[in-house]
Amino acid sequence: MNLNPGSIRFCPLCGAPIDQALKFGKMRPYCDQCHYIHFEDPKVAVAVFVEDQGKILLVKRANDPEKGKWALPAGYVDRGEAPATAAIRETEEETGLIVTISHLIDVLFDSGNIVILYGAAVQGGALCARDDAEDACWFTAAELPPLAFRSTQILVERWQQR
Ligand SMILES: [Zn+2]
Repeated sequence: MNLNPGSIRFCPLCGAPIDQALKFGKMRPYCDQCHYIHFEDPKVAVAVFVEDQGKILLVKRANDPEKGKWALPAGYVDRGEAPATAAIRETEEETGLIVTISHLIDVLFDSGNIVILYGAAVQGGALCARDDAEDACWFTAAELPPLAFRSTQILVERWQQR
């Protein structure tokens, strides 16, 4: 029996108790009844770096983790959704701004998530906090708030050093 949080105890296909078996090079949750192999895939997130007139766009987090700190507009990629589409969607959901993706900045590994970081430019919309953001603002390098997440901190540091 596997009791790790985040792992599975019952087969999602047939409901039988899940076992562990050596499959594709490592021990994985496995169903003896229907032979389902459970791949514990990493989550894929996108974050969006928008700079305009010397300021960057940040959102104040309304929820844990890192509630109350500020981060790049970001979120998880839905199954079947292209990462760039998720980046545009998350930015609009959190800030009200419509952006176009200009380039890929980097891919980072942050808190177990694969984070794809895009540069983007504002095309329209009106700035207002929405969805899981408590506030959304433009900041200069001199007036930065407390930052959440390593990926945001890394990008902001790179931007300050430019
Ligand atoms: Zn099964």
